[in-house]
Amino acid sequence: MRKPFVAGNWKMNLDLAGARSLVAGIVEGLGGSSKIDVAICPPSIYLFPMAKAIVESTVAMGAQNCWSAPSGAFTGEVSAAMVKETGCRYVILGHSERRNTIGPRDSNGNIAGESNDMIAAKVRAVFDNEMIPIVCVGETLAQRDANETESVLTSQLAGSLASVKAEEASKLVVAYEPVWAIGTGRTATSAQAQAAHAHIRGQLVERFGADVANAIRIQYGGSVKPDNARELMSCPDVDGALVGGASLKPADFVGIINETIQAKDL
Ligand code: PEP
Repeated sequence: MRKPFVAGNWKMNLDLAGARSLVAGIVEGLGGSSKIDVAICPPSIYLFPMAKAIVESTVAMGAQNCWSAPSGAFTGEVSAAMVKETGCRYVILGHSERRNTIGPRDSNGNIAGESNDMIAAKVRAVFDNEMIPIVCVGETLAQRDANETESVLTSQLAGSLASVKAEEASKLVVAYEPVWAIGTGRTATSAQAQAAHAHIRGQLVERFGADVANAIRIQYGGSVKPDNARELMSCPDVDGALVGGASLKPADFVGIINETIQAKDL
């Protein structure tokens, strides 16, 4: 049985006082419950203070990104080893805001412009530093409308997970995040989410075999809120949520966690 996992991606939001008050609200709201795994993913500059704020709680911490090389001339980047030192258990990788799919673009059409190859190298660095990558995949609206959802997911998974070793694969977390549902208020229906998650699981079975694939947690992300969480989390292949906007309000984030507990009958 997969333990559900809800993570909050704070993106580039909050000042330090706001971050402290958010984490205090989450810790209090959870009241020590560990029925599901919970993580906060603050901006990297807040990782050390947030690590202190979650000591003795059931909340874990993740980073929103890291670099693949162990050290060197990479101005502005942080290595997986640096992230590990802050106390992170997880690292989000390949978020659509870091791939080249949405947002303001440069003259070549890229944002951070991360390719599957770059993400695979970061996945390797994260596993090598004894953390768990949360690897994001998802199609744009144009790709969905062109019936390319499954082929996009297949190629993102093949590329981004190319560096994963069989013996570590069961620890992996995949986040299915349809790009058209991120920060838009539009959510995938539970049928759309389940279909995409089943396709992802099928790809994981082909790559790692059924036993490992059935242990891998696949989160859904895209405008998850307390009032749509129960239906989404009830899908058999949906093992939790990667939450953006709603993770910035303690009541909403804890509400999603409680809905997940209910949906999974825990
Ligand atoms: C995200 O950025 O990972 C996300 C799912 O955002 P939101 O919940 O705001 O759609």
